[in-house]
Amino acid sequence: MAKGSCLCGAVQFEVTPPSRYCGHCHCSLCRRAHGAPFVTWAGFPADKVDIQAGRERLTRYLTVSGSTRTFCDRCGSTLFFEGPAYEGELHVVLANIDEPIDRVPEAHFFVDHGAEWWTINDSLPQYGGETGFEKKE
Ligand SMILES: [Zn+2]
Ligand SMILES: [Zn+2]
Repeated sequence: MAKGSCLCGAVQFEVTPPSRYCGHCHCSLCRRAHGAPFVTWAGFPADKVDIQAGRERLTRYLTVSGSTRTFCDRCGSTLFFEGPAYEGELHVVLANIDEPIDRVPEAHFFVDHGAEWWTINDSLPQYGGETGFEKKE
């Protein structure tokens, strides 16, 4: 198990591996929500993420794509993502998990939607195209 929290500490949670994936998302929604060129997500079965404190602080924002982004209403930390394409899965912002999990980032997604001002400078596999998940050569 690995503990996580938001910036102010009001929200405390615990994730239980095995995770389903870990990767960097370069989509424009993540970029805007997090104020960063990309955000690193770790996907877990929803029932393997246990909110232990601060549930009343969680605000859910429903995006135009039908996904939900959950953040702490006190400090603004972005914490969780749920989407119709990932039934039963909760994506957790890796930066807010305080301990190592069972994997490290494995790939970049939505690379064709990435910020003009950010250059990917590692050798991880890249996926893009309209869906964000098509393998790039
Ligand atoms: Zn907070
Ligand atoms: Zn994204």
